[in-house]
Amino acid sequence: MASVAGGQTFYKGWGCCLCLVMLVIYVTKKAMKMLGHMDKLLVAAAAAADAGEVPVAAAITNMDGQIIALAENRMKRDGNALHHAEMLAIQAAMAATGQSRLVEHNLWVTLEPCTMCAGAIAHARISRLYFGAYDEKAGAVESGVRFFDSPSCNHRPEIYGGIGARESAAMLQDFFAARR
Ligand code: ZN
Repeated sequence: MASVAGGQTFYKGWGCCLCLVMLVIYVTKKAMKMLGHMDKLLVAAAAAADAGEVPVAAAITNMDGQIIALAENRMKRDGNALHHAEMLAIQAAMAATGQSRLVEHNLWVTLEPCTMCAGAIAHARISRLYFGAYDEKAGAVESGVRFFDSPSCNHRPEIYGGIGARESAAMLQDFFAARR
């Protein structure tokens, strides 16, 4: 009986180990996917910089984690001050899905969104917001007006900041340093 009890204990312990391994694999896969999205955005942001735009890129993903829209800053090229990467990605995703509300979609962006883009994110009912570098000057999520915490905001996404922040901030610093 003692050995059976011991065996049960062994299996119980082994079961927990398997759960832990599965959990680690799941979390690692998810983290790799997150970094994969940010890597794609950094490539798009670099392309924007090559075109003389402030290097910022944004994407919309569906609940399967697939990118359905990807855009970069185009203010200079389009001669339009509203053409921030987030605005373009949101509009492209709405066009692609035919939905005016992107309830089951997430927005990824290399830089903390400004007030205009934070407003658009709320209007579009984005589910989760993942952003890279913090922007103390023009950011409106964790910096400045903290738009999603204001009483006039009608929708607050889940917010995850600082993903791939170092690479994104370095790209922005290089861009502005080259223009000085
Ligand atoms: Zn913006």
